[in-house]
This record gives sequence, C-alpha cells and structure tokens, in this order.
Amino acid sequence: MMRSVLAIGAHPDDIELGCGGTLAAHRAAGDAVTMLVITGGQNGPGPVGFRRAEAEAAARNLDCLLRWGPLEDCAVAPDAATVAVIEAAIRDTDADVVYVHAPDDSHQDHRAVAAAAISAARHSRRILHYRSPSTTRFEPSVFVDISAYLNRKIDALACHHSQVENSAMVDPEVVAASARHFGAQARVRYAEAFVPARFVWDLAPPIVAPLSEISGLEARVAV
Ligand SMILES: [Zn+2]
Repeated sequence: MMRSVLAIGAHPDDIELGCGGTLAAHRAAGDAVTMLVITGGQNGPGPVGFRRAEAEAAARNLDCLLRWGPLEDCAVAPDAATVAVIEAAIRDTDADVVYVHAPDDSHQDHRAVAAAAISAARHSRRILHYRSPSTTRFEPSVFVDISAYLNRKIDALACHHSQVENSAMVDPEVVAASARHFGAQARVRYAEAFVPARFVWDLAPPIVAPLSEISGLEARVAV
C-alpha cells in the first residue's frame, strides 16, 4: 500500500533530526515523501543561500521532495497564515501521514508549527509529533525501527554543513545515542520516537462499502 507522507519542520534540518530515518524507511517501502520547511532558516548559523542548498542536498540524499514555506525564521505564529501554508501542502500531497514538531519546545517557531499543524491536519488520520533537541516534555509511545536507516539519517544531516559545524544540536554522536536510547525503549536496535496526536492503524486497505451493506450493518446493530 503506497502512502503519501508529509513531514513538516520550522527550519532546515529539523525534519532530518526528528524523523530522517523514518522518512528513509517510508521511501524504502515505496511511499511518497514530501518535506515542508516552513522558513528559510534566515536566523540560524550560516548564510541563508547555504542553508537552502544544504536542505536541497539533504532531501536528495533521502530521496524526498522538498517544499519551502514563505515564513520568516524566528517569527512564525500559530495563526491563519501558518495554518494555510500547511493546509496547502496537505492538500497538494494528499497526505495520509503527517510528521511535525512536538508542541512542548523551547523554540517558539517549533511550538507555532506544531500548533498550526494540528489545525491544518484536523481531517488527517495520522499525525505524529517528533522530538527536536529543543523539545522539553516528550513521552513517546509510537516508534519506528530505523536500524537499517540510521546511516542514511546521519548522511542527510551531514548535508547541513553550516549546522554541523556551528551548532552543538547536530552532533552525529548525539543522534546515534538518541536513536539507541529510543531503540531500547522500542525493543529494537535504533529507533525514532513519536507522540501521536492521532494515529489510525491501517491494518487493511480502506473499504468503500456500498450503501446497502452499511444500512444492513446498521440494521443489525439496531437489533
Ligand atoms: Zn528548528
């Protein structure tokens, strides 16, 4: 079953850090994956042009599509404009899985994007919050085994040269240790961890039942 996956991050490298291994696993499963970066990362370490090119390289590395939002770094609000950016991406990709920041985070952009995504994805059946280095409260209950994809995640992060060199947040050793920690919780080697806002398990493909069958079921329930 091919899924359409939308991963949302406030800044270049947020998505790779939070769920890069999971996105690689989705691609290996044949799923379509789009990464939506809400801002250009204007205020992080390093020149903006570099950051755009780095994000493009990382997305190529993970074999995912990349889509840029028009909002300004460090000034994202959980308002109608941000909701509209995410709604448009959900509509265009017909996403049935949405990955986004966790709501409890010390970075205001991360909090705003998490809140806006909850509104924008109100009709989605699967919304999973990932952890960022600045996430505060995070009690995961859904895990993805990324044992086969940890190297892909670290390779994608390495594309963000300006961050790897200038930010202690993007340290491959910490990334591997974190994946090992969540892996122990998940009873696998390496894992990424998620807090579900909503998660409908797709055990079988959705069935479009004829109306007659639905009324038959309702009749049985009524009895
Ligand atoms: Zn960020």
